[in-house]
Amino acid sequence: MEAKQGTPFHYIGVSLPRSGHSFFRRALIRYFRHGLKFCDAYKPERCCQARPCTALGGAQVFYQKNHDFDLGLDPTMASESLAYVVQYRHPIPQLLSYLEHSGVDPGSPARFAWMAQHLRYRAAFVRKWLRPAPPGVLRLRYEDLVANPQRAIGGIIRHGVGRVNERRLAAAIGATAGKIAGGDAFEPRVLEASAHFDRASLAAYEALLLEEEPDLGYAPMFGGGTPDAAHPMVRAYRTQARAHAMPEQSPACE
Ligand SMILES: [Zn+2]
Repeated sequence: MEAKQGTPFHYIGVSLPRSGHSFFRRALIRYFRHGLKFCDAYKPERCCQARPCTALGGAQVFYQKNHDFDLGLDPTMASESLAYVVQYRHPIPQLLSYLEHSGVDPGSPARFAWMAQHLRYRAAFVRKWLRPAPPGVLRLRYEDLVANPQRAIGGIIRHGVGRVNERRLAAAIGATAGKIAGGDAFEPRVLEASAHFDRASLAAYEALLLEEEPDLGYAPMFGGGTPDAAHPMVRAYRTQARAHAMPEQSPACE
């Protein structure tokens, strides 16, 4: 599936937080330079927010950042000139990185509700975008991006514009990796070093996730098993799930 000559190609990024979006975006911007228009769905003042974008100017490639937090993104827009780039990562390092990024206090009981809410989003995200993937989804696994960014990003570019300038891509990736060094993206993560590493909570998170998403696509880190019903994160999750399942009250009842 390749865009016709002269037809702009749209990538709609759909990423789980902390799954390599920043690295991919920066490398893509460096590679295409002025040929690419980037839009952040969370900064609507900078773009028309139409999909596809109506304010491309002369750009031949469009890329939008989106996490689909509300799961409202239309999965049926794929065409010869539009594809979704779905970024995901092993659930445990993804969760730890996101907890660190979120500013949630590692010692606060509020973290359990936060984790439970993120779990519900992640499970629904995976069901919507990966199990099975709708037509037009290009998978970009964090682990593949880290292991071989040239191949992973090259495959995405090839799908959209048909050919890849490997030397220019290598330069774009090299410059991006340099900028990110010292950040989080490409340093091997030592899970136990995280302030949020708490074996019981992470094991409960993984066990609950396996209930929702039996095929994680990754080896479980804590062996699966049954969620500990007494763990506060499991209780928070069950409470949220029940609240979510209840029919919404009509305002007219008040
Ligand atoms: Zn726009």
